[in-house]
Amino acid sequence: MNFQQLVLASHNAGKLKELQAMLGQSVQLRSIGEFSQVEPEETGLSFVENAILKARNAARISGLPALADDSGLAVDFLGGAPGIYSARYADGKGDAANNAKLLDALKDVPEAERGAQFVCVLALVRHADDPLPILCEGLWHGRIMFQASGEHGFGYDPLFWVPETNCSSADLAPVDKNQLSHRARAMALLCQRLGLA
Ligand code: IMP
Repeated sequence: MNFQQLVLASHNAGKLKELQAMLGQSVQLRSIGEFSQVEPEETGLSFVENAILKARNAARISGLPALADDSGLAVDFLGGAPGIYSARYADGKGDAANNAKLLDALKDVPEAERGAQFVCVLALVRHADDPLPILCEGLWHGRIMFQASGEHGFGYDPLFWVPETNCSSADLAPVDKNQLSHRARAMALLCQRLGLA
């Protein structure tokens, strides 16, 4: 598959830069912000549905093939919550409130039952009505800690224990997190699918 340009269904300049670096120079990522400031409502019940919905919307608006990602934290004890609602778990009060709510929800849960995964789903559509989106899923398995640790990252990073490095994901330098993370894993699969690996 040969895409010279893809529109990324995100207004986040940092995300565009990170994904562009992983894709390399043969594909140019353009921001959906060049075409529209309006974000679609994420009405799906799964990461996959929301990623496809965002990719289709970006393709429709731009007339280009489009890539979208949807990510979040799925906690085993909570049946996968906060899941697709990760960003607004504490009703839009931000990262600190999200983390406090999660610690409270797990306050009596022993270590062995605190398994969780960061999830990233990437969806690529060739055009808005593409019946066969390319889907790549990256999972990063870990555990929810009893208290926050670390200064890097964002979101739930301070509460996410990474077994392979024996620290929280907020303790990891960004360059190290970007080797291991759910987004890195999903992007590696996408690069393989596009023949870029
Ligand atoms: P988005 O898909 O980048 O908007 O992420 C959705 C939400 O999931 C974020 O607001 C965070 O709460 C959470 N999340 C996704 N990826 C990460 C991560 O790498 N670290 C910490 N939290 C994350």
